[in-house]
Amino acid sequence: LGPRMVKEALYTYVRPDAQGEAELLAVSQRALQDIGLKEEEAETEEFKDVVAGRKILTWDEEKPDEGIYPWAQCYGGYQFGQWAGQLGDGRAISLFETTNPSTGTRYEIQLKGAGRTPYSRFADGRAVLRSSIREFVVSEYLNAIGIPTTRALALTLNKGSKIMRERVEPGAIVTRFAQSWIRFGTFDLQRIRGDRKTLRTLADYTAEHVYGGWDKLPSKLPTGDAKETHSQASTGISKDTIEGDGLEAENRYVRLYRAILRANAQTVAKWQAYGFMNGVLNTDNTSILGLSIDFGPFAFLDTFDPTYTPNHDDHMLRYSYRNQPTIIWWNLVRLGEALGELMGAGAKVDEGVFVEKGVTEEEADELVKRAEGVIDRCGEEYKAVFLAEYKRVMTSRLGLKTQKDSDFEVLMSELLDCLEAFELDFHHAFRRLSAISLEDVDAEDKRRDVAGRFFKENDAPRQEADSRQRIGKWLGKWAERVKEDWGEGKDAERQAAMHTVNPKFVPRSWILDELIERVEKKDEREILRHIMKLSLSPFEENWGWDESEEERFCGDVPKYKGMMQCSCSS
Ligand code: AMP
Ligand code: MG
Ligand code: MG
Repeated sequence: LGPRMVKEALYTYVRPDAQGEAELLAVSQRALQDIGLKEEEAETEEFKDVVAGRKILTWDEEKPDEGIYPWAQCYGGYQFGQWAGQLGDGRAISLFETTNPSTGTRYEIQLKGAGRTPYSRFADGRAVLRSSIREFVVSEYLNAIGIPTTRALALTLNKGSKIMRERVEPGAIVTRFAQSWIRFGTFDLQRIRGDRKTLRTLADYTAEHVYGGWDKLPSKLPTGDAKETHSQASTGISKDTIEGDGLEAENRYVRLYRAILRANAQTVAKWQAYGFMNGVLNTDNTSILGLSIDFGPFAFLDTFDPTYTPNHDDHMLRYSYRNQPTIIWWNLVRLGEALGELMGAGAKVDEGVFVEKGVTEEEADELVKRAEGVIDRCGEEYKAVFLAEYKRVMTSRLGLKTQKDSDFEVLMSELLDCLEAFELDFHHAFRRLSAISLEDVDAEDKRRDVAGRFFKENDAPRQEADSRQRIGKWLGKWAERVKEDWGEGKDAERQAAMHTVNPKFVPRSWILDELIERVEKKDEREILRHIMKLSLSPFEENWGWDESEEERFCGDVPKYKGMMQCSCSS
């Protein structure tokens, strides 16, 4: 039995298939709020049945012409740079869409691990508890630190289920939601198949229903007027960039491409600023909304090593920390190719060129050629948006209010060099910097003392006089910049501001491993509630839990448990 090829369609109706007895392990209170549900509403049997895949809320067998039936999406993807063919939601099933009445935001609610779909290929459609816990925690954590991401509402254990991976493991379901689950790979597949009709439907749907309408997309290019210099810098695209190709600036598919490009540039900038790695940035794992999506072997940096990849099988370091911005651009170029003919045709699409009247092979080549120049120069916009966002976040993480070129060329790069050279912890560095007062570092000997705070406890060998001297010198330069931006008497305010952007808690791999181990032991399930509390409010100083546990989970990475890798059969 081979995989079923689903043509001229973007999804298939499919029924969730619950397994074993269900135990609701966790609900994210933040997620409830964001969807617009009350706490009590998550305590009903109906809620439990829906998130466990046992009840289809929007479907009544008696009235098959009404209501909404669950579906799985069809997509393809480039995996590790190679075209992988049709993939699709092999173990994700969307249940319905729902709109938060007070924010007006619409979400697609989806179950992961609720059984096979036409896209399961040779796999079982299930998800193990281990990877479900990882996804549940990290989705909510990323959202808490302000990084766009798919979300997690509930985690359900399928009691008694036995899932065969490297070992036999318990199965689970994550109920998750996003404003859209469409991926770059959704476009890739239709382009590879040459299905212009479906491709156009998909592009129009994305603009009209995901981005909220064509009028919501970036429109007029900057004019270059002096007062627009700022927006020009942040768009990074010059007036004649697109007009120069004979593609009018208002070409709506170019605008759609640029919206997707900008969203992704901003998200990858935030990943870099917070040391997050997805681990498998294939095009099927890249969201058209720039959401962090698909949490397989993801990880946060521990020490600052730009060559680190959390993916055990990533021998080429394709998905390493430092490669992420390049890889997202690589994926965007594939998306540009998928949208190439549409961008080339522009308004002619309305005259039927492209779908109804079709295009000859030569015309298609011509359309793509016109679009290629645009994609090339959209690279400028990508870089500019990425850099602007990276600098914005890093400026605030350093406790500065304004940006100077030297902040990045000198201050930031010297800090990162120190972190790398002395194998210091990336997250602790920023959190500990936040707690330093200017008075602490107003003399050379004091600075050398304070430098000691950046090292791990018991890391005597690295704390040689010259490394502390180097960090001390850096602290001196940093303090000068802080004074320049804040003036006198604002130290407490500056420290408070830094504490809201430099998290104390980070769900590192070793923590998730311990969490998983303890949740799998039935009598230690409480730990999940505590870790979720830390994850939902990671900027707090205390959480009212056992103090030594809080300190342990926010403290030094235990020996041999740093920079772990994951092969993540999940
Ligand atoms: P990923 O590596 O998570 O991006 O998954 C790649 C593809 O494999 C997607 O189409 C998934 O839906 C599918 N897939 C992964 N694991 C399973 C599973 N256990 N059952 C069915 N499909 C799966
Ligand atoms: Mg995937
Ligand atoms: Mg996955």
